[in-house]
Amino acid sequence: MMDRKKLVILGAAESGVGAALLGKRELWDVWVSDAGKIKDSYRKMLEDAGIAFEEGGHTEEKIMAADLVVKSPGIPEKAPMIKKLRAAGTEICSEIEFGFRYKGKGKIIAITGSNGKSTTTKMTYHILETAGYDVSMVGNIGNSFAKQIVEQPTEWYVMEVSSFQLDDIQTFRPDVAVLLNISPDHLDRYDYKYEHYIKAKFNITRNQTAEDIFITNKDDKEINQYLLTHPINARTLFFTMNNDQTNNQHSDTDGAFTENDQLHIRYEGEDTTMSIHDLSVKGKHNQYNSMAAGISARTAGIRSAKIRESFSTFEGIAHRLEFVATVRGVDFVNDSKATNVNSVWFALESMKKPVVLILGGQDKGNDYQEIKDLVAEKVKAIVCLGIDNKNIHTFFESIVPNIVDTQSAKDAVLAAYSLAEKNDVVLLSPACASFDLFKNYEDRGDQFKEAVKSL
Ligand code: ADP
Repeated sequence: MMDRKKLVILGAAESGVGAALLGKRELWDVWVSDAGKIKDSYRKMLEDAGIAFEEGGHTEEKIMAADLVVKSPGIPEKAPMIKKLRAAGTEICSEIEFGFRYKGKGKIIAITGSNGKSTTTKMTYHILETAGYDVSMVGNIGNSFAKQIVEQPTEWYVMEVSSFQLDDIQTFRPDVAVLLNISPDHLDRYDYKYEHYIKAKFNITRNQTAEDIFITNKDDKEINQYLLTHPINARTLFFTMNNDQTNNQHSDTDGAFTENDQLHIRYEGEDTTMSIHDLSVKGKHNQYNSMAAGISARTAGIRSAKIRESFSTFEGIAHRLEFVATVRGVDFVNDSKATNVNSVWFALESMKKPVVLILGGQDKGNDYQEIKDLVAEKVKAIVCLGIDNKNIHTFFESIVPNIVDTQSAKDAVLAAYSLAEKNDVVLLSPACASFDLFKNYEDRGDQFKEAVKSL
């Protein structure tokens, strides 16, 4: 009997275990290696499937014997094992690439961007589901793509894709690719070179052809700049808030735009029009997300009435501008997922009342210039929630009269509540990662909500 080809999976979390299960189904000789501890639920999945694995370290000779390595998105390029594999010329791919090779006929709507991925993915999924499509939601939200293919293949996959997943694709080619926006994030993983991060994001359309669709943001500076020098093979559709009548760009062009508080989607002779006030999720960023999701759904064949219905019934996601409660006239909003400065811009932009802003955490090298004007206009006090808040004090001390330091969600809520008056809003929108004080952004948001509820 011929020896089976060796598949090595590095990292045994959602995507790694998914790839292992799919590899086994496709008759690879699978070996899973995780340098850390594997979560019990994932260990059980591997055991139940009879897949060999190790944890707490890598056995180099087994890994170096691989014909193909699937690398989890969390593993950086500079990890010693990856360096050795690269030097040996071993083929390395990401889990979405591996899934793509075995997905069969299913169609993919893949969504990336610096902000709004989860929201737009869930919204697009909601539209397809409302329209009765056989659809699953995969990627960073929900099942990994590979796991979904094994457990329950669907005709459509709506996929949230990170730049890390896009770093290691070779043939991955979505039917519809969406690039929402680009602003600095995760630069630590890209040698602090912004152009590398931008290139990774555009990988989403790299293998597309003229039969595919690429949907992107006409108002995004980085995207426009990149497009000037990089032709796109796919049919490209834009969404924008600057509907320029002078060159009549939208009168005969498919895409989406907003004008006079109306959101328009135009595709193959059909117009979908809706008041932005009827969208269930608020804020300018959600108008962008809605345009992107709506035009994607139209290209997938969904008619206007279903799209409008879905826009008004979409429930949003926790920790993204999530309204928590009003306590004696003070609103509390949980935007814990705002882990970069750009998402705080959109949060502040959407606030109609004076804001007490809870900001801070693990700073990824933030430049607060982008939110300076909005803070000056709307923020009456800042409550820092983090271990090291120097950067925030230095930047905002001449703009905001009141800046206080706290190191727990409870103290932050108490401090913010005492600084707020009736008809103010306390907004947790930290611009930073949460790992200095919390397990993750969900933990930060949950602790914030708990503290609000016990006021
Ligand atoms: P991602 O999955 O890309 O991190 P999310 O949908 O989880 O995006 O939203 C992350 C944060 O960014 C939240 O604070 C949210 O309010 C904000 N946000 C959502 N959509 C956008 C957008 N299109 N532009 C900027 N910020 C956004």
